[in-house]
Amino acid sequence: MPKSFSTIKRPLSLEEKRQRAIEYNRYKAPFEPVVNVEDFAKREIFDETIILKCLHCGFQEEVDYEFIEESWDPHDSDYPIAYCAKCDQPEVVPLDIYQKLKKQ
Ligand SMILES: [Zn+2]
Repeated sequence: MPKSFSTIKRPLSLEEKRQRAIEYNRYKAPFEPVVNVEDFAKREIFDETIILKCLHCGFQEEVDYEFIEESWDPHDSDYPIAYCAKCDQPEVVPLDIYQKLKKQ
């Protein structure tokens, strides 16, 4: 489903993917299978982040999109709204939405 805002996708380098697989194997629960580091490094893996901005105070930050996606239900609203880390108002929205709303 197309989103009404954009996110930033950055492919992980081979070294980053190896590092992640090694870390996963180190901290995984005993019943979970071991990840083959070189197979894992061959996969396409992206880090996805989103830039959020506060409509109230203008505070801007880039966060992992995963966290936003978890707490946002697309059926409730067209875009995620969060609390601002700076002014504590529930007015933090994706940067695209911020620019759209400020232009009106
Ligand atoms: Zn704020």
